[in-house]
Amino acid sequence: AGVSELLLSRIRDVPDYPKPGVMFKDITPLLADPAAFAALTDTLAALSTRHGATKIVGLEARGFILGAPVALRAGLGFIPVRKAGKLPGATLRQSYDLEYGSAEIEVHAEDLAAGDRVMVIDDVLATGGTAGASLDLIRRSGAEVAGVAVLMELGFLGGRRKLEQALDGAPLEAL
Ligand code: 5GP
Repeated sequence: AGVSELLLSRIRDVPDYPKPGVMFKDITPLLADPAAFAALTDTLAALSTRHGATKIVGLEARGFILGAPVALRAGLGFIPVRKAGKLPGATLRQSYDLEYGSAEIEVHAEDLAAGDRVMVIDDVLATGGTAGASLDLIRRSGAEVAGVAVLMELGFLGGRRKLEQALDGAPLEAL
Protein backbone atom coordinates (compact mmCIF):
# COMPACT_ATOMS: atom_id res chain seq x y z
CA ALA A 1 0.00 0.00 0.00
CA GLY A 2 2.93 2.32 0.74
CA VAL A 3 4.30 1.88 -2.76
CA SER A 4 0.93 2.57 -4.44
CA GLU A 5 0.58 5.80 -2.48
CA LEU A 6 4.10 6.91 -3.34
CA LEU A 7 3.50 6.21 -7.05
CA LEU A 8 0.11 7.92 -7.08
CA SER A 9 1.57 10.99 -5.38
CA ARG A 10 4.04 11.36 -8.27
CA ILE A 11 1.43 11.38 -11.05
CA ARG A 12 0.22 14.76 -12.26
CA ASP A 13 -3.28 15.35 -13.62
CA VAL A 14 -3.18 17.63 -16.67
CA PRO A 15 -6.64 18.87 -17.69
CA ASP A 16 -7.65 19.23 -21.34
CA TYR A 17 -4.64 17.37 -22.76
CA PRO A 18 -4.30 16.28 -25.55
CA LYS A 19 -7.77 17.69 -26.17
CA PRO A 20 -10.59 19.42 -24.25
CA GLY A 21 -12.35 17.20 -21.72
CA VAL A 22 -9.47 14.73 -21.29
CA MET A 23 -7.62 14.52 -17.96
CA PHE A 24 -4.12 13.33 -18.88
CA LYS A 25 -2.12 11.33 -16.33
CA ASP A 26 1.45 12.67 -16.57
CA ILE A 27 4.13 10.32 -15.22
CA THR A 28 7.12 12.66 -15.68
CA PRO A 29 7.17 13.68 -11.98
CA LEU A 30 7.49 9.99 -11.09
CA LEU A 31 10.36 9.51 -13.55
CA ALA A 32 12.11 12.53 -12.04
CA ASP A 33 11.97 11.01 -8.52
CA PRO A 34 14.58 8.23 -8.28
CA ALA A 35 12.97 6.62 -5.20
CA ALA A 36 9.58 6.40 -6.89
CA PHE A 37 11.07 5.25 -10.21
CA ALA A 38 13.07 2.55 -8.41
CA ALA A 39 10.01 1.39 -6.45
CA LEU A 40 8.02 1.15 -9.66
CA THR A 41 10.81 -0.72 -11.44
CA ASP A 42 11.27 -3.18 -8.57
CA THR A 43 7.54 -3.84 -8.29
CA LEU A 44 7.08 -4.47 -12.02
CA ALA A 45 10.18 -6.67 -12.14
CA ALA A 46 8.94 -8.77 -9.20
CA LEU A 47 5.54 -9.18 -10.89
CA SER A 48 7.18 -10.25 -14.14
CA THR A 49 9.27 -12.86 -12.33
CA ARG A 50 6.27 -14.11 -10.34
CA HIS A 51 4.28 -14.65 -13.53
CA GLY A 52 7.11 -16.59 -15.12
CA ALA A 53 8.05 -14.07 -17.81
CA THR A 54 11.09 -14.82 -19.96
CA LYS A 55 10.89 -11.58 -21.98
CA ILE A 56 9.66 -8.03 -21.44
CA VAL A 57 7.77 -6.18 -24.15
CA GLY A 58 7.52 -2.39 -23.80
CA LEU A 59 4.91 -0.38 -25.69
CA GLU A 60 6.06 2.82 -27.41
CA ALA A 61 6.78 5.28 -25.96
CA ARG A 62 6.39 5.39 -22.18
CA GLY A 63 6.41 1.59 -22.05
CA PHE A 64 10.03 1.86 -23.23
CA ILE A 65 10.96 4.13 -20.33
CA LEU A 66 9.40 1.74 -17.79
CA GLY A 67 10.03 -1.58 -19.52
CA ALA A 68 13.77 -1.26 -20.13
CA PRO A 69 14.81 -0.93 -16.45
CA VAL A 70 12.28 -3.62 -15.52
CA ALA A 71 13.89 -6.01 -18.01
CA LEU A 72 17.38 -5.30 -16.63
CA ARG A 73 16.18 -5.66 -13.03
CA ALA A 74 14.46 -8.98 -13.80
CA GLY A 75 17.41 -10.23 -15.88
CA LEU A 76 15.27 -10.56 -19.02
CA GLY A 77 15.55 -9.33 -22.59
CA PHE A 78 13.71 -6.18 -23.64
CA ILE A 79 11.68 -6.08 -26.85
CA PRO A 80 10.18 -2.89 -28.25
CA VAL A 81 6.71 -2.87 -29.79
CA ARG A 82 6.73 0.22 -31.98
CA LYS A 83 4.35 2.31 -34.00
CA ALA A 84 4.37 1.14 -37.62
CA GLY A 85 7.30 2.12 -39.81
CA LYS A 86 9.99 2.52 -37.14
CA LEU A 87 11.62 -0.91 -36.97
CA PRO A 88 14.26 -1.68 -39.64
CA GLY A 89 13.96 -5.48 -39.86
CA ALA A 90 11.22 -7.90 -40.90
CA THR A 91 8.17 -7.31 -38.69
CA LEU A 92 4.81 -8.62 -37.63
CA ARG A 93 2.22 -5.83 -37.83
CA GLN A 94 -1.14 -5.51 -36.08
CA SER A 95 -3.79 -2.82 -36.56
CA TYR A 96 -6.37 -1.79 -33.99
CA ASP A 97 -9.29 0.62 -33.81
CA LEU A 98 -9.07 4.11 -32.35
CA GLU A 99 -11.97 6.38 -31.49
CA TYR A 100 -11.59 7.81 -35.00
CA GLY A 101 -9.71 5.61 -37.48
CA SER A 102 -7.08 3.01 -36.67
CA ALA A 103 -3.43 2.59 -35.72
CA GLU A 104 -0.76 -0.05 -36.32
CA ILE A 105 2.01 -1.44 -34.15
CA GLU A 106 4.92 -3.72 -35.04
CA VAL A 107 7.50 -6.01 -33.50
CA HIS A 108 10.61 -7.52 -35.08
CA ALA A 109 9.55 -11.01 -36.15
CA GLU A 110 12.78 -12.59 -34.93
CA ASP A 111 12.43 -11.15 -31.40
CA LEU A 112 9.59 -13.46 -30.29
CA ALA A 113 9.07 -17.17 -30.82
CA ALA A 114 7.43 -20.27 -29.42
CA GLY A 115 8.80 -20.97 -25.95
CA ASP A 116 8.91 -17.30 -24.91
CA ARG A 117 6.64 -16.08 -22.09
CA VAL A 118 6.09 -12.37 -22.49
CA MET A 119 5.14 -9.68 -19.98
CA VAL A 120 3.80 -6.50 -21.57
CA ILE A 121 4.68 -3.26 -19.77
CA ASP A 122 3.11 0.16 -20.27
CA ASP A 123 2.38 3.23 -18.19
CA VAL A 124 -1.37 3.60 -18.67
CA LEU A 125 -4.15 1.24 -19.73
CA ALA A 126 -6.89 3.41 -21.22
CA THR A 127 -9.28 1.79 -23.72
CA GLY A 128 -7.05 -1.29 -23.96
CA GLY A 129 -6.61 -1.00 -27.71
CA THR A 130 -2.81 -0.75 -27.67
CA ALA A 131 -2.28 -3.54 -25.14
CA GLY A 132 -4.80 -5.76 -26.93
CA ALA A 133 -3.01 -5.37 -30.26
CA SER A 134 0.31 -6.19 -28.57
CA LEU A 135 -1.18 -9.41 -27.17
CA ASP A 136 -2.34 -10.35 -30.67
CA LEU A 137 1.20 -9.75 -31.97
CA ILE A 138 2.72 -11.89 -29.23
CA ARG A 139 0.37 -14.80 -29.89
CA ARG A 140 0.87 -14.54 -33.66
CA SER A 141 4.63 -14.88 -33.08
CA GLY A 142 4.03 -18.22 -31.35
CA ALA A 143 5.04 -16.86 -27.95
CA GLU A 144 2.92 -17.14 -24.79
CA VAL A 145 1.50 -14.20 -22.81
CA ALA A 146 2.69 -14.06 -19.18
CA GLY A 147 0.55 -10.99 -18.52
CA VAL A 148 0.15 -7.25 -18.84
CA ALA A 149 1.46 -4.89 -16.15
CA VAL A 150 0.74 -1.17 -16.09
CA LEU A 151 1.36 1.60 -13.62
CA MET A 152 -2.20 2.82 -13.92
CA GLU A 153 -5.54 1.58 -15.22
CA LEU A 154 -8.21 4.13 -16.14
CA GLY A 155 -11.05 1.87 -15.04
CA PHE A 156 -13.87 4.02 -16.38
CA LEU A 157 -12.69 3.39 -19.97
CA GLY A 158 -13.35 -0.35 -19.76
CA GLY A 159 -9.94 -1.53 -20.98
CA ARG A 160 -9.89 -4.53 -18.66
CA ARG A 161 -13.04 -5.99 -20.16
CA LYS A 162 -11.82 -5.29 -23.69
CA LEU A 163 -8.60 -7.21 -22.96
CA GLU A 164 -10.30 -10.22 -21.42
CA GLN A 165 -10.38 -12.31 -24.58
CA ALA A 166 -6.83 -11.47 -25.67
CA LEU A 167 -5.53 -12.18 -22.15
CA ASP A 168 -7.16 -15.62 -22.20
CA GLY A 169 -6.68 -16.04 -18.45
CA ALA A 170 -3.32 -14.27 -18.18
CA PRO A 171 -3.18 -11.60 -15.47
CA LEU A 172 -3.65 -7.85 -15.93
CA GLU A 173 -1.77 -6.13 -13.11
CA ALA A 174 -2.33 -2.43 -12.42
CA LEU A 175 -0.34 -0.82 -9.59
P1 5GP B 1 -5.31 2.69 -25.00
O1 5GP B 1 -4.81 2.01 -26.24
O2 5GP B 1 -5.42 1.75 -23.83
O3 5GP B 1 -6.57 3.48 -25.23
O4 5GP B 1 -4.27 3.81 -24.64
C1 5GP B 1 -3.11 3.46 -23.96
C2 5GP B 1 -1.91 4.14 -24.56
O5 5GP B 1 -2.10 5.54 -24.62
C3 5GP B 1 -0.72 3.87 -23.68
O6 5GP B 1 0.42 3.57 -24.49
C4 5GP B 1 -0.53 5.16 -22.89
O7 5GP B 1 0.82 5.50 -22.82
C5 5GP B 1 -1.31 6.21 -23.67
N1 5GP B 1 -2.22 6.96 -22.78
C6 5GP B 1 -3.57 7.10 -22.89
N2 5GP B 1 -4.05 7.91 -21.93
C7 5GP B 1 -2.98 8.30 -21.19
C8 5GP B 1 -2.83 9.15 -20.03
O8 5GP B 1 -3.75 9.73 -19.47
N3 5GP B 1 -1.57 9.28 -19.55
C9 5GP B 1 -0.50 8.67 -20.12
N4 5GP B 1 0.72 8.85 -19.56
N5 5GP B 1 -0.62 7.87 -21.21
C10 5GP B 1 -1.83 7.69 -21.73
